[in-house]
Formats: sequence, structure tokens, C-alpha cells
Amino acid sequence: MKYARALTIAGSDSGGGAGIQADLKTFQELGVFGMSALTAVTAQNTLGVHGVYPMSLEALENQIDAVAADLPPAAIKTGMLFNSDMIELVARKVKEYDWNQVVIDPVMVAKGGQSLLQEEAVEALIEQLLPLSYVITPNLPEAEALVGMSVQTIEDRKLAAKKLHQKGARHVVIKGGHGKEGDQVIDLLFDGENFTEFESQRIQTKHTHGTGCTYAAAITAEIAKGKSVKDAVNTAKQFIQAAIEHTLEFGEGHGPTNHWA
Ligand code: PLP
Repeated sequence: MKYARALTIAGSDSGGGAGIQADLKTFQELGVFGMSALTAVTAQNTLGVHGVYPMSLEALENQIDAVAADLPPAAIKTGMLFNSDMIELVARKVKEYDWNQVVIDPVMVAKGGQSLLQEEAVEALIEQLLPLSYVITPNLPEAEALVGMSVQTIEDRKLAAKKLHQKGARHVVIKGGHGKEGDQVIDLLFDGENFTEFESQRIQTKHTHGTGCTYAAAITAEIAKGKSVKDAVNTAKQFIQAAIEHTLEFGEGHGPTNHWA
């Protein structure tokens, strides 16, 4: 049997709930062979990030080249990219290998408040990587940082999605999890022409560590299998909803979402 392959370019979470670990587990759950290129190692558990240890640019480039040379991926996902040099490198590699199914999870800050992307790198993300993205998956604070406007209402989010599309993202998924819509969570997909809303029941829990990584990884896996972005987001939404519903409640802090869900 032939399996689709996907590559994640992201940071390691020693706690296993987010980052590379969440991505690979999610790929596996959805029947996709996962490969990885590490940008940084984090010492982390459910209580927070204890330390961040970036890889050298050479190490990152070598990992990407090794995968590209022998195991070309059908889709790639980027997560924690740490600084503008890494963003520049990833953008150069995406162009070199002509990768056009690139899902960008614009990771900026961990739940505990620790920075996973240096502030100066936000501009590089917008200028260099966003125009190469097939899908970008900001949560509300990330969308605000990317477009410089409030995204509290659905109308604001539609405007923000249009702005991100104008900056070069072919599909924009603005996740509503940080919103204040009461019992509903509304994720918004914009494909440049139409908006699709994906609604779910809000689940009250603090155990949501790694939800963003898992959601974007599920979208990437489905795209690697040849699904349309709309179908991929639909499957990913169901996957993440089940993952939060059956949360593991590990650890003293924000427990990980359940990748078996
Ligand atoms: N650690 C790494 C390596 C990550 O990539 C991410 C998110 O993308 C996080 C931590 C943050 O996870 P959360 O904000 O869900 O706790």
C-alpha cells in the first residue's frame, strides 16, 4: 500500500503535546507517513516552556535537503520557526523544491506566554513565507499580529482573511477558539472567493496544549492525501474537536489534546 508523505518543519516539545510530536502523531493517526526537520528543541511540560534551544541554520537546511532528496513530501507544514533567519531559509527551500502545498501555522507564543517566534520575525513571516503558503492557520491573536487589526467580530475576521489573501496566502483559516462567541466556536475558511464557516460546540477545558499544531497537522495530512482544502479543514475540525473532547488530563498544567481521538 502506498502512503502519502508529509514533512513538518517545527520545534520539538519534550512534553509530547505540541510541536513536532503532535504533528507526527497526527499524521500517523490520519494515515500519512510523517517526516520532520527540527528548528528548535524546547524543554517543556504541561506547566510551561523551561528552555528553547534553536538548531543551527546548517542543521535545519541539512534536514530539509535530506528529506527532499529521497522522500519528497506531498505536503509540508511549518510550526515554530523561531527567528527571521530560519524563515528566510525555509522560504528559500520551499522555492528551491517547488513545494506548493505548504501549510503555515504562524506559531508565535506558547500558552504559558513564552515566545516561540522572535518579534522581529513576524515581518519576515509576512513578507517571505506567507506568499508561498497554500493554507495559513492563525488563531485570533496571531491574525491580529499579522494584519494589525482587531478580529473580535466575524466581519472583522472576514476582512482580516481578505488581507491575508491579498498578502499571498491562497487559503486562510482563522480559528475562532480564542473568540467570545459564547458556546460556539467558528473557524472561518477563505479561498479568495468564498467564505466557509466551520462551527463546533465550545468545550470548557484547560487541557488544550498543542491544539493549534494538531489542527494544522491534520489539515496538512488530508492535503497530502489529495483532499481539497475545504474537505481537509472539515476533517481537521472534527479531529481537533474529538481530541479536545477526549482530552488526556495529563500533568499539572495545560494537558495535551488526545491524538488518538
Ligand atoms: N511548543 C512548541 C514546540 C510548539 O510548536 C507550540 C505550538 O505551536 C507550542 C509549544 C505551544 O503550544 P500551546 O500554545 O498549544 O501550549
